[in-house]
Amino acid sequence: MTEETIFSRILKGEIPCDEVYNDSVCVAFRDIQPQAPVHILLIPRKPMRSLQDAEPEDKELLGHLLLISSKIAQQQGLDNWRTVINTGAEAGQTVFHLHLHIIGGRELKWPPG
Ligand code: AMP
Repeated sequence: MTEETIFSRILKGEIPCDEVYNDSVCVAFRDIQPQAPVHILLIPRKPMRSLQDAEPEDKELLGHLLLISSKIAQQQGLDNWRTVINTGAEAGQTVFHLHLHIIGGRELKWPPG
């Protein structure tokens, strides 16, 4: 059985979100604790715990997510942004449903923490 997460509950409409994009494959909404003026999360409708669980059959899905993340960033008026996927608790992953962070609207330092 697929594990329930905050994001699976958002997909089911059980928890509200500030949605900015959706299609048959994915949904994007504003992060509840934004780390920058623009901080959006893009999640696949398909449940997947993390990038570690991606299979070769997910190639098209992963490509779609990257292309849509760029479209969303540009729709938000960004020319510079960062796309982040935290994989695993020690890398900062707190919600175990694959998600891309789209972060921008301020100068971003490198390396990340
Ligand atoms: P990560 O730490 O990479 O797993 O990212 C999870 C993100 O989900 C964090 O940036 C949280 O602020 C965000 N988050 C948690 N709950 C919600 C929610 N209900 N709506 C929007 N964003 C959320």
